[in-house]
Amino acid sequence: MESFSVYGRDTGGPFLLVSDHAGQAIPDTLGDLGVSATERARHIGWDIGIDGVGRGLAEALPALLIEQVFSRLVIDCNRAPGHPTSIVRESDGTAVPGNQSLCEKQSGWREQAILHPYHARIRTELDARKARGQATCLIALHSFTPVMRGYARPWHAGILHNRDSRLAHIMLELLRGEGLCVGDNEPYALTDTSDYTVPEHAERRGLPYIEIEIRQDLITAPEGQAEWAARLARLLPAAWQTFGERYGDAA
Ligand SMILES: [Zn+2]
Repeated sequence: MESFSVYGRDTGGPFLLVSDHAGQAIPDTLGDLGVSATERARHIGWDIGIDGVGRGLAEALPALLIEQVFSRLVIDCNRAPGHPTSIVRESDGTAVPGNQSLCEKQSGWREQAILHPYHARIRTELDARKARGQATCLIALHSFTPVMRGYARPWHAGILHNRDSRLAHIMLELLRGEGLCVGDNEPYALTDTSDYTVPEHAERRGLPYIEIEIRQDLITAPEGQAEWAARLARLLPAAWQTFGERYGDAA
């Protein structure tokens, strides 16, 4: 089983979509990691709803979407290999028995089978786009749980950014213009340690990017997923156009 799925199609547009946490699969050899199906279906197992948003967006733009198919409980593909939270022993109060005291061979296998092929696929796509002179904007798609440690998060969505905030700020204004409550580096700030995909694939190459987080209760049902896919399909090209007008040829 491949560790990634590809949706949509590249018709020459600027966007490449990636979803690090869209999947729920666990390799057969690992069983259920000792975590119940109910627990695995929570936000600790995957980014609830982002699969529907990403696939709808890929079709609407259109653009290519690369999705990780394995659960983040197996290995977190938005963490550098070897990071302390790459393979979690506990997440939001739930123990992960299958992740306790792994030896180097066991964690290395997960990196080789799941993390590296996914990122290699993204790298291949970015290299090909560069080789044909195609401008690229990386869109990292995530969703977040509405309540964390008793705190009800007010944001409908969050825009995360770090070294290059230009496109993020444009997208933030567009989303706020829709009357939405949008976090600026909330509920998380983008950093080199709490993230891997954007620093590795966008910032290191100097590519413009947006990391977007959508609150899970808004996209649990297919209607909400379709609504957000349509919204992003409308606003991302608008943000890209403003970016080009403000900062010149983006590539
Ligand atoms: Zn995520």
